[in-house]
Amino acid sequence: MKKLEQLYEGKAKKVFATDDPNLVIVDYKDDATALNGKKRGTIEGKGAINNMMTNRLMQMLEKNGVPTHFVEEISQRETVVKKVTIVPLEVIVRNVAAGSLSKRLGIPEGTPMRKPVIEYCYKCDELDDPMVNEYHITAMGWADEAQIAQIAEYALKVNSLLLRYFKTINVDLIDFKLEFGVTGDGTLVLADEISPDTCRFWDADTHEKLDKDRFRRDMGGVEDAYNEMARRLQIEE
Ligand code: ADP
Ligand code: UDP
Repeated sequence: MKKLEQLYEGKAKKVFATDDPNLVIVDYKDDATALNGKKRGTIEGKGAINNMMTNRLMQMLEKNGVPTHFVEEISQRETVVKKVTIVPLEVIVRNVAAGSLSKRLGIPEGTPMRKPVIEYCYKCDELDDPMVNEYHITAMGWADEAQIAQIAEYALKVNSLLLRYFKTINVDLIDFKLEFGVTGDGTLVLADEISPDTCRFWDADTHEKLDKDRFRRDMGGVEDAYNEMARRLQIEE
């Protein structure tokens, strides 16, 4: 496998072409942004932790019937994945009220909900990722009816698998964001990453935040939180 030219540089990862047109290499950076890029910084060691965590979780999900883009980890920061056309949606799943939901609905952070909530945001930095519903998604052609039904089914399945997994390391999964893509042969798969950048993790006993909210909210102890999640995940293995 040859690493060829850089195709894209995002806020947290770079994407490189390979000599196989169906595969790309993602390279995880230590760069951190929040407020859609308006706040910038570095979280030392984040790239390696997010690469490791994403790959473990994707392999666990794959084993349990959720197709993913994961192919092979090739270094601490780099992973070969299936090249997909990303469905331009952030698929958010919530178990406990927090973040933008708490703000929008006036429900205190930490309030449990009767069932998981799925939200969709249109991936567009210039518009600050506005929330949309299934009518917008099919009307604009971002996904068709069958695809959005499949996305919702996978998102709920990922949620129950991740809830169970994180329970074993004493972590409550508050909410998270997923991205899906379509491979060359038309298969819908889970793509992008699952990490403390994209999930809210609270210690199950102390409710201490172990995720990117420590960076977003200037709480300090950002590196410690990422390292603690990595430590618990590695013990689990
Ligand atoms: P952003 O673009 O939001 O700054 P990143 O820095 O994480 O985000 O950049 C990674 C980019 O790669 C994202 O746009 C993501 O949608 C895209 N991506 C993730 N997985 C794949 C994949 N398997 N094939 C192609 N693109 C992908
Ligand atoms: N999230 C993400 N990328 C985004 C927006 C949200 O990964 O661009 C994740 C975030 O980490 C959290 C969940 O999605 O786990 C819900 O985020 P929320 O809508 O509450 O937004 P925030 O409070 O982060 O602005």
